[in-house]
Amino acid sequence: MNLQQTDAWLRLAAARLHEQATALTRLDQAIGDGDHGINMDRGFSAVVAMLDAQPAPDGGSSGQAVGGLLRQAGQTLIRTVGGASGPLYGTALLRAGAVYARAETPSVADTVAAMKAAAEGIGSLGRSTTGEKTMLDALVPAAAAAQAAFDSGHDESGVLAAAREAATAGAESTVPMLATKGRASYLGERSIGHQDPGATSAALLVCALADVIDRG
Ligand code: ADP
Ligand code: MG
Repeated sequence: MNLQQTDAWLRLAAARLHEQATALTRLDQAIGDGDHGINMDRGFSAVVAMLDAQPAPDGGSSGQAVGGLLRQAGQTLIRTVGGASGPLYGTALLRAGAVYARAETPSVADTVAAMKAAAEGIGSLGRSTTGEKTMLDALVPAAAAAQAAFDSGHDESGVLAAAREAATAGAESTVPMLATKGRASYLGERSIGHQDPGATSAALLVCALADVIDRG
């Protein structure tokens, strides 16, 4: 992923989160406090404002530049989002940024490693893992599918296509789960039967990335 694609991904994600804000908030009304759409929309609007304040990205693809932009986006989310999702997604972007920053010219392997690092960052901050009805139920399978597609020789577009499919299925898989982390865990058994808002926004982020990579 180069600098232009990083910028395009963050902007596309922001536009889709804005469109889906009401739907995400509705999911969070069922099993949380009804602010997930608002939180994500606020955070990513601030990310777009940060991008707009910078010179337009060139086609350059230094890992430092990509990592730096992801780091700034992560810091923006941590600063602007009040809910649990801000620090969690913020940390994910910081970890992904650190992976890219180590690469001279980011390769597909770095994209796979960045997805894995992002999921691990959320798990360590949130003390969470899969099966607990969180964003990790979309992100962990997405990262695993990306790794498997990479191992079988797919290019970045094929890797992201596999991740998109796994993230979407992963978000849907949260419906029958019992929430044991975050606000939804307060509901106990009543959390069952609803799709997790964070898993839904995580799938949206992965789909936006896949779409940007598909454009080339
Ligand atoms: P809040 O719960 O503070 O209102 P949001 O509504 O923005 O924050 O985000 C809720 C989402 O955050 C949940 O749907 C879940 O996916 C995710 N989440 C909450 N706690 C954790 C955790 N410990 N680990 C991973 N994800 C979590
Ligand atoms: Mg909430």
